[in-house]
Amino acid sequence: MTTALEIASRVRDPELPVLTLADLGVLRSVSESSDGSVVVTITPTYTGCPALDEMGADLRRSLVAAGYSSVEVRTALSPAWTTDWITDEGRRKLQEAGIAPPSKLGPQAVGPVPLNLTPPSRRVLCPRCSSPRTEEVSRFGSTACKALRRCADCLEPFEHVKEI
Ligand SMILES: [Zn+2]
Repeated sequence: MTTALEIASRVRDPELPVLTLADLGVLRSVSESSDGSVVVTITPTYTGCPALDEMGADLRRSLVAAGYSSVEVRTALSPAWTTDWITDEGRRKLQEAGIAPPSKLGPQAVGPVPLNLTPPSRRVLCPRCSSPRTEEVSRFGSTACKALRRCADCLEPFEHVKEI
């Protein structure tokens, strides 16, 4: 029998359907009890992400379809999700879909955080030809989490999952 964890891991992200919730790193825990009830805990990606309700509904639908009688979806806001939680597998899938994955921001500093007025310049490579000569065309692509960029070498526009 497929476990609740396996089913929940396969649910796709509404905004980035090439990724599962597991790839995205939003799935925090899945616990099932012997009476067939499941509690899924997810951490929303972007604050006020409209996809959150949809994620919850998709999780509930998939688990109920698999025979789980009672499904509860909880939201854990802390620690906050960052794009670093996207798995390597998820980054590979984005790249294959022609979407530039976010750069890794690295571990967050603990304690006082130095004020950084100029964000570190991160090079976004073209997912098609790997050229570093890309420029942002629009801060918001088809969804709020993606920016629209264009490659100066192959001239193809592409989407980039913004780092948070
Ligand atoms: Zn290119």
